[in-house]
Order: sequence, then C-alpha cells, then structure tokens
Amino acid sequence: MSFKGKTALVTGSTSGIGLAVATRFASLGANVVLNGFGDAAEIEKIRAFLAATHGVEVTYDGADMSKPAEIAAMVEKAIARFGAVDILVNNAGIQFVSPVEDFPIEKWDAIIAINLSSSFHTIRAALPAMKARGAGTIINIASAHALIASPFKSAYVSAKHGVAGLTKTVALEVAEMGITCNAICPGYVLTPLVEKQIPDTAKARNMTEEEVIKKVILEAQPTKRFVKVEEVAGIAAFLASPDAASITGATISVDGGWSAR
Ligand code: NAD
Repeated sequence: MSFKGKTALVTGSTSGIGLAVATRFASLGANVVLNGFGDAAEIEKIRAFLAATHGVEVTYDGADMSKPAEIAAMVEKAIARFGAVDILVNNAGIQFVSPVEDFPIEKWDAIIAINLSSSFHTIRAALPAMKARGAGTIINIASAHALIASPFKSAYVSAKHGVAGLTKTVALEVAEMGITCNAICPGYVLTPLVEKQIPDTAKARNMTEEEVIKKVILEAQPTKRFVKVEEVAGIAAFLASPDAASITGATISVDGGWSAR
C-alpha cells in the first residue's frame, strides 16, 4: 500500500489515535497535515520526526476545531500547498462525563462543536477539490458510541451518533464521484482522552478508578483489552486504499466485540 504523492489531513493528530493515523499515512508515503493542541516544541519535534523518518512533507496547522473560520482556513491552506486534501481524517475530539441534568452547557456546546460540527466544516471545505479530481477519502473517527449509548455521556453519544448520520449522508451525495466517506467506530483505546475520564466516571458511578477500568471500560469489551491505536490506523489506511473503493457510508466497528452484544 503506498500513498506517495497524496496528502492526508488528520485533525487532532498531536496525540492518541490521530497521531497514530498520521504516522501510518506518513509511513506509507503520504504528505501529512498535522493539527491539534499541545506544547509547540513537542509538536515541532513530532512534525520534524515524521518528515525525516518517512521522507514526506509534514506541516502543522493549529486551527481550533471549534472555530469554523479557522477550520476553513486550514483546509484552504492545505489545498494551496499540496493541490488537494486526498485523505481527510476527522479525528479531533473531547469527552466530558456527567449526569445529564448536571451537564455544563458550555461542555455540551464544545463537544457538539469539536466532535461533530468540525467534521461538517472540514468536509464542506475539502469536497470541491476532491470533486474536481474525481477522487478522495473521508474518514470520520466516530466511536462505538456512534452506535450505542452509555449513561453520563449525553453530549459525546449525541455528537458521535451525529457523525454516523453525517458519514452516511455525505457518502450518498458523492457516491458516483470516486469519493468515499466512512466512520471508524473504536471501542475503548487507552489514550489521554480515556485516561482523563476515568476519575470523573469513578465519581459519577461511585467507584474506584480501578473498578472503572475493570467493571465499566474493559467489561464493555469482550476481548477484555484496550483497542490499540495502531489497529485504528490500519483500518484508516485500508479505507484509503483502492481495495476499499466500494466501502462507503459504513460505520466500521473496531471495538473488540462491544457492539456485538
Ligand atoms: P486524545 O485526547 O489523545 O486526542 C485528541 C486530539 O484532539 C488531540 O490531538 C487534541 O489536541 C485534539 N483536539 C482537542 N480539541 C481540539 C480542538 N478544539 N481543536 C483542534 N484539536 C483539538 O484522544 P483520542 O482518544 O486519541 O481521541 C481521538 C478521537 O477518537 C476522538 O474523536 C475520540 O472521540 C475518538 N475515540 C476515542 C476512543 C478512545 O477510547 N480513546 C474511542 C472511540 C473514539
């Protein structure tokens, strides 16, 4: 599999799943646009490492995925530099855990903006160039929570169900244009996003943090282990390959059997 000469833009790729996806595409020859928050020196280290290790161009754009104008500018800049965004991976996301009646309104708004609306904004900005070329891959990193719910995650589950709907709608609109749009639905992956929610889940469920890992997190996954970031990256690479040309509008579970129950 080679993506030499192609460009992958991965939102939220300074950490976790997004970083693994960006790394995979770089290792397969694609130029990469990194995005996400973090320490500027750390991010520059990642950017330079990926470029030097894989002999590809890697740029970084610090656009805030809750700001539509910054998102549009990021995509425009990528298209101006590389000619197109061939592979768009909508991955940036945040989490907050609380009973619905206590859920802070600003957290609801932020989760809907970053986990759902940002994908609408990147897709609408990237599609014209994809249509002009008659080719493109859109991958939305959704979640098992795009298909099933858990208590205390009202905003996250709503946003991710929305991503599944957006995925299907876009897939139908561009089905005859050589462009695919799919959602990957991971179960629990041990990244900072999950590590941070363990104390809040423990509070909401009146459990210790160890109990949360065993009885809430790994209990949900029949494999009884976390999904690996590399396993998600592998599916993303496959979806961008020619063998996946007939896969579109799909929600692909990578959840150790969670959604099979
Ligand atoms: P993470 O916290 O390691 O990474 C999140 C990334 O998003 C970081 O790069 C962060 O800087 C970026 N980000 C956050 N807010 C942003 C903003 N406003 N603008 C730009 N970038 C922003 O988390 P992760 O677990 O790797 O999550 C990545 C995606 O995978 C998310 O959409 C998440 O919902 C999804 N997901 C994660 C899991 C899991 O168990 N970790 C499971 C299913 C789905």
